[in-house]
This record gives sequence, structure tokens and C-alpha cells, in this order.
Amino acid sequence: MILCAASNIIHLHDKKHRSFLRSILAGKLSLPKHFPVTISSKLPNVGTTIFTVMSGLATEYGAVNLGQGFPDFPMDAALTKLVNKAMQDNYNQYAPMPGWMPLREAIAEKVSFLYGTSINPDTEITITPGGTYAIYSAFTAILQAGDEVIVFEPAYDSYIPNIEVNGAKAVTIPLVYPDYHINWEAVRAAINPKTRAIIINSPHNPTGAVISEKDIEALREITEGTDIFIISDEVYEHLIFDQIPHQSILRYPDLLQRSFVCFSFGKVYNCTGWKLGYCIAPAPLTKEFRKIHQFNCFSCFTPTQVALAEFLKNREAYLGLPAFMQQKRDYFSRLMASTRFELLSSHGSYFICARYHKISEEADRDFAIRLTKEAGVATIPVSAFYRDGKDDHVLRFCFSKKEETLEKAVEKLAAC
Ligand code: PMP
Ligand code: GLN
Repeated sequence: MILCAASNIIHLHDKKHRSFLRSILAGKLSLPKHFPVTISSKLPNVGTTIFTVMSGLATEYGAVNLGQGFPDFPMDAALTKLVNKAMQDNYNQYAPMPGWMPLREAIAEKVSFLYGTSINPDTEITITPGGTYAIYSAFTAILQAGDEVIVFEPAYDSYIPNIEVNGAKAVTIPLVYPDYHINWEAVRAAINPKTRAIIINSPHNPTGAVISEKDIEALREITEGTDIFIISDEVYEHLIFDQIPHQSILRYPDLLQRSFVCFSFGKVYNCTGWKLGYCIAPAPLTKEFRKIHQFNCFSCFTPTQVALAEFLKNREAYLGLPAFMQQKRDYFSRLMASTRFELLSSHGSYFICARYHKISEEADRDFAIRLTKEAGVATIPVSAFYRDGKDDHVLRFCFSKKEETLEKAVEKLAAC
């Protein structure tokens, strides 16, 4: 970047600038260390995400990475073939701002098949660069300075910064340890005229907890007659185990009227690096959502959208996911029985949490760092999902891995 900026100077300016640039390139001068401008941070308390930190440590120490949530096995070759084909067929220009229409139609068809709800692909679905972006855009569309949003903790770590960057306030409510269910009495007590939204996430990251029909009832009773929005993070829609049905907001037309429902293809098709997702919301809400989206990224990578429009027709690919991932949870759980970690329950997502009180009394962050460096296994300390760093001495493990990866990790953990 310096070189680009500097070469502009060479073309545009005088000899003095050229000799300054030559001196820098020759290492005789360094760029000024004091900058004339400072940023008044919108997120003064935010550092680097725990996922970046732990994946960085895993690489540095050559540890098995059960930290950041991503599969280490290949995605479906039929889908990569379709992307290749889309590129070769020259689908390489901008997609329409709300997304490739055949893909939106395929999503509407899937929603109707799975949840019995009719969604208008033209006005109610927007393709986004990932689920995180969809959630951010939904918050940005609805929040004004001073608004409050109810967030259940532990919470996926983007939610609170997304709220605060919009000048609003996150009102946190702890999920009830150790099964991490929602305390609806606490929600009732937290509601006030400033409450603008509630964000829910099922299946839940980091705990694997899932909501039930009773939770939906409580949500309905609390929001009825209010102007509270619901943001429903359903990126783990298909990663739900033990025959439990996924309580999507899409099943409940009355709740959907006030909701932005956010999804990620990365989690469905084992391609987290694609960063492609979508948001479903009623037309007036989608209209505002798109005002944000169109001036942020405008439209998403075209070839993957063209490929997915075709691949989504293959129902088996997503209907087989719960059993596929449950088998990984069960395999990991069986292996972990040989260690001194004590697993909590997980009914969904990529994750299962574990206590380590029989091994150490250290804070979870310290223990996770030491485990990476000394035992060679990276995990995520669950305190990272609490604003105040609440520490129940619990680590999160990602089991969305090849069996040999899980075996290698547990062999190391068993020595702790
Ligand atoms: N919400 C939760 C709870 C997640 O775990 C993730 C996965 N990183 C996302 C949203 C976002 O997914 P994406 O990678 O598509 O942005
Ligand atoms: N969702 C993934 C996790 O929770 C990764 C998110 C990220 O790296 N930003 O591990």
C-alpha cells in the first residue's frame, strides 16, 4: 500500500517527494511514528476475537485446533463442481443486490418444505456475505441510539459489539448454568420502553443448548402487543440432535412478523470460508435491511449463489446433516470419557462444553492457553462469551472434525 501511495506521489509531485521516497525505500528514513489523527473508538473495550487468538496460538504451537468452529473435512465435491461450472459458464459479474433470484426461490421452496411457511423470494429474502453480516445488518436497520437489546449470555461474540457500534445498549441475561436454558422471568423483568429487540440463537453457540416450544410460547407472550423485534440466529438450523425438531421462527408466522431470521450456508455445506448466508424478514423489515446492505457490500459472490441455487434442490444434503453431526458429537463424547474433563450436554451446533475442575483451578482463559501450548489442543474459553468475563471454568470444544483429528486431540487430553 505504501508503494502504491508512494508511486502516485512520484507521478504527481516534484523531485523532493521522489528523493524522500527513494530514501524510505533505501531504508535511510522511516515513516513518521506520530499520526496527526486519532480515532475516538466506537468500541473501546473490544480487542481481537477469541477465535483469532486461539487459532493463532494453535498454529504457533502446532496444536490440534478444536477451538474455532470449522470442519476439517472436505465439503461436497458435487457443490464445488457446480461452482466451477458457474465460473466457466461466465456467471462472474455482479449478482442482483438482494441475491441471485433462483437461489432465493430455492430458499423459499426449502422454507415451505421444512416449516410450512410461504416466503416471498422477491421481497423477504436477502443473500448476505455470511450470517454474522446478516445479524449486523439487522441490528443496524432497527437500532437507534439509546435503544436496548436483550442478549443471552454466553453469547456469540459479535452480538454486543454489533449493538454498541449502533449506539444502543446490550442488556445481558445469563442462561441458566449448566444446561443453559433461558430464564424468562429475568427477561420479563428486563423489558422496558427502551427494549427494541431480543436476539435468540438456537442451536446455541457456544453451549449446544436448543430452545423448545415452551420457549417460543414465552417469547410470544413477552413480545405480543409490543414493538420489540426478534433477531433469530439460526445458522445451526440443521445441526440439531436427539430427534429434537428445530424451533425455527419461520414456523411461527405471528413471530415472523417482527423478526429477522439469519442463516449461514457455511454451516450447512461445510464451507465456512465461503461466508455466504441470508436473512429472511417480512417485506417492510427487508426493505430497511436492504438499505443497509446495498451500501455496505451491495451484492455477494455470484458463482456460489448460482451453484447453491441448483444444489439446494438436493434435500438429502441437508436432511442428512443432523445424523452426520450427531455421530461426531457421540464419537467425541465416547472418546472424552477416557479423560478427566466432564462434558456438559449438547443438543446441537458444532460444539460441546466441558468442565475441567478435576484437572485445574485456573481461570478458563489461562487454562485454554496452557492447554494449547503444553498439551497441544486448542479450545475456546467460555468466559469469552460473557461481557464481564464470567468464568464457570468451562471450555468449548468443536467436534466438527475428522475422526482421526478427534482421536489425536483426545489422546493428548487424556494425558492431562
Ligand atoms: N452466529 C453464530 C452463533 C455462529 O456460530 C456463526 C458462525 N461463525 C455465525 C453466526 C456466522 O456465520 P458466518 O460465518 O456465516 O458469518
Ligand atoms: N462461528 C465460529 C465459532 O464460533 C467461528 C467464528 C469466527 O471465527 N468469527 O467458532
